[in-house]
Amino acid sequence: MNDAVRLDALSKTYGAGDNTVVALRDVSLTFPSGSFTAVMGPSGSGKSTLLQCAAGLDVPTSGRVLIGDTDLSGLSETSLTMLRRDRVGFVFQAFNLLPSLTAEQNVSLPLRLAGRRPDRQVIRRALEAVGLADRARHRPAELSGGQQQRVAIARALVTRPAVLFADEPTGAIDAATSRELLGMLRDLVDGDGGLSTIVMVTHDPVVAAYAHRVVFLADGRLAGELAGPTADDVAARMTNLTVPTVPA
Ligand code: ADP
Ligand code: MG
Repeated sequence: MNDAVRLDALSKTYGAGDNTVVALRDVSLTFPSGSFTAVMGPSGSGKSTLLQCAAGLDVPTSGRVLIGDTDLSGLSETSLTMLRRDRVGFVFQAFNLLPSLTAEQNVSLPLRLAGRRPDRQVIRRALEAVGLADRARHRPAELSGGQQQRVAIARALVTRPAVLFADEPTGAIDAATSRELLGMLRDLVDGDGGLSTIVMVTHDPVVAAYAHRVVFLADGRLAGELAGPTADDVAARMTNLTVPTVPA
């Protein structure tokens, strides 16, 4: 199986001098095409930093990120912008929809920004994939939180990205709605909905259990992984996360 994303000895340091924070330390990971991976770890363990670097939204201090065969460190700012626009999708805890636009207008935005004329069928299929075909003309304020996040997912998928990155996508949604949304994400990967790979950050074991695989971060380092996890497995591992001692 090809790797959708590969992280090679990724490190990220913020600040300088006394204010230095090491957010990621020598993290190497692959995300195979067709996989759904959850990145787990306590608050401050580097999850969001890992996602931002992997998605080309932030630049690592050292190490490499490959999306497919493309090494992000070799890209100009323009090429990086195009890669972010065309080959990756993002979903955040805040839905970040434009309030004045309808669901279908929000979904068509990435295509418009790319200078493409949005094809009605393509927009429709993206909304169908997230179960919202009948809400195309609704504005965000007329939709529930879970529905707004579905629109955000449809918007992220409309360019058919190689990988969808999600940072705490259910963080602002109630538990029952979260389960539906996560089941839908899992189906998008397992089915033939056109989406092949998801990398999702979460600190919630129940959320992580929807993934095929969970990788653990502790203090910016990789701290093991679990395949086919249950929420109990993940919770137990979280309690026992030992931070490897680092020589100064
Ligand atoms: P998580 O998502 O697991 O909670 P983050 O990746 O957000 O963790 O943060 C990892 C560490 O890096 C934390 O100590 C955080 O304070 C620090 N950090 C994150 N972003 C910045 C930034 N822009 N500037 C300085 N420090 C940062
Ligand atoms: Mg975070």
